[in-house]
Amino acid sequence: MIQIANVSKHYGSFQVLKECTTSVAKGEVIVVCGPSGSGKSTLIKCVNGLEPFQSGEIIVDGTSVGDPKTNLSKLRARVGMVFQNFELFPHMSITQNLAIAQVKVLGRSQDEAMDKGLKLLDRVGLKAHAAKYPGQLSGGQQQRVAIARALAMDPICMLFDEPTSALDPEMVNEVLDVMTELAHEGMTMMCVTHEMGFAKRVADRVIFMDQGAIVEDDSKETFFANPRSQRAQHFLAKIL
Ligand code: ADP
Ligand code: MG
Repeated sequence: MIQIANVSKHYGSFQVLKECTTSVAKGEVIVVCGPSGSGKSTLIKCVNGLEPFQSGEIIVDGTSVGDPKTNLSKLRARVGMVFQNFELFPHMSITQNLAIAQVKVLGRSQDEAMDKGLKLLDRVGLKAHAAKYPGQLSGGQQQRVAIARALAMDPICMLFDEPTSALDPEMVNEVLDVMTELAHEGMTMMCVTHEMGFAKRVADRVIFMDQGAIVEDDSKETFFANPRSQRAQHFLAKIL
């Protein structure tokens, strides 16, 4: 579903990604971890074309992201992305948040979009909040709405960038539960997270990044029991 081959990216003279190579098969769940500043966000933003890269290739479901002929808005409509800070539209109700891209980007009717939005809201346990505004919901609830909004687009895969790191601790699990359910339903997922419990339970593979490079790309069993690099060993010792 996602192929990343020798991807390098510079900001001026600073190399933020160094020859990154990995792939995510259909239905696979990959956790990406590593120290702050190691390039995790940049890598997943490259996958849906939110960040350009200078060399290498990324192919998502047969579409080359770096090809100037690729229609990036079309690609982004099919790749769900969930950020740390939810990024809901504050001036729109939850229902409007769920419907807008379905109508504007996919051309669905308002009714169809509302219907789909409500079904997904129900699925993340928030149907009762449909008429509210984002500011009236807790962080955990807003993040579940953000996930429902991404799912409303029928994505072929989902990218998560630290979806729980802005949440109070008591709200982390409600979001991880939704992600776990998605994973069990067969969604292809690339998740930047430091929730190692989630990684152990749900991930198929764990990628560890350091200073712009993919230092480890292993089954979770190998990663947790026997990380190859010292850098990953240090990282795990600090966060586990
Ligand atoms: P992570 O998500 O692992 O914390 P990022 O991908 O956000 O790391 O950032 C990787 C590195 O790239 C950091 O050193 C960061 O300061 C740098 N960086 C990110 N965005 C920019 C930018 N727009 N211009 C210059 N440097 C940037
Ligand atoms: Mg980041």
